[in-house]
Amino acid sequence: MNGARVWSIPMRTRFRGITVREGVLIRGAAGWGEWSPFLDYTDPAVAEPWLRCAEEAAAGNWPAPLRDRVPVNVTVPAVGPEQAHAIVTRSGCTTAKVKVAEPGQTLAEEEARLEAVRDALGAAGRIRIDVNGLWSVDEAVARLPVLERAAGGLEYVEQPCAAVEDLATVRRRVAVPVAADESIRRAADPYRVRDLEAADVAVLKVQPLGGVRACLRIAEDIGLPVVVSSALETSVGIAAGLALAAALPELPYACGLATVALLTADVVSEPLLPVDGELPVRAPTVDERALDTLAATPDRVAHWEARIAEVLRVRETSRL
Ligand SMILES: [Mg+2]
Repeated sequence: MNGARVWSIPMRTRFRGITVREGVLIRGAAGWGEWSPFLDYTDPAVAEPWLRCAEEAAAGNWPAPLRDRVPVNVTVPAVGPEQAHAIVTRSGCTTAKVKVAEPGQTLAEEEARLEAVRDALGAAGRIRIDVNGLWSVDEAVARLPVLERAAGGLEYVEQPCAAVEDLATVRRRVAVPVAADESIRRAADPYRVRDLEAADVAVLKVQPLGGVRACLRIAEDIGLPVVVSSALETSVGIAAGLALAAALPELPYACGLATVALLTADVVSEPLLPVDGELPVRAPTVDERALDTLAATPDRVAHWEARIAEVLRVRETSRL
């Protein structure tokens, strides 16, 4: 971990059960790369592709961009209609991803949220909903037409059910296009989604799938439109997602890369925040003073050093 910097940044609000985001910036010939596998990804074989993504960034080994701006979506959590309206209006985005299937909420509350989002976006805006795999097939089939009506049209539903087989079933029974997100976490997953014809859209994240070039190859192989999404990275990690979004031959949907604002601080001087619903395709400059301020405590540094050592050991073993 020579030259590597371990950082720790509190989240603005709890997200994915996380209140503090931690990770490592590693330095290479061309600059910095981010390695920030979630703490519950304890299997070093799972964290290994995340490291390949950081190494690719640090080596400057990204494909040439085909565009200089990438449209991004605003994310609307499971809030009331007034707040949903305000979040969308404030964002400047023309695509909104709305969370549904929040435990304890009714279908009527979800309809009200979607109506408010449509009102804020206007007729030309696009709305997608994210179920995070929480519905059964029957719930998906019953609820989607209701929510689509409330939203005045849905561009797609993200991960309506947990199992990839169930995505395939839902896709055959509803008119709303289906996107696979949680079903795509490891390199082999996108091919399974393709082979089962389980989705119309693939949500790809560069770290878990081994980097920008690996994702570009996957996108080509599976022949599905891709939405590039973040893994709650700092701007250094977001830049890798942007590099993929910028290099894809076609980008028909807004990407889920506008997540830097979920962190209370960033490791760069000019964070990758959206302007008028788009992110500029550029490499942010790492702010060494911010890295000092956000440096993790020695026990957390030791944790990450042990983790990276395990990943490198797994890599060596698998090569033998
Ligand atoms: Mg999702």
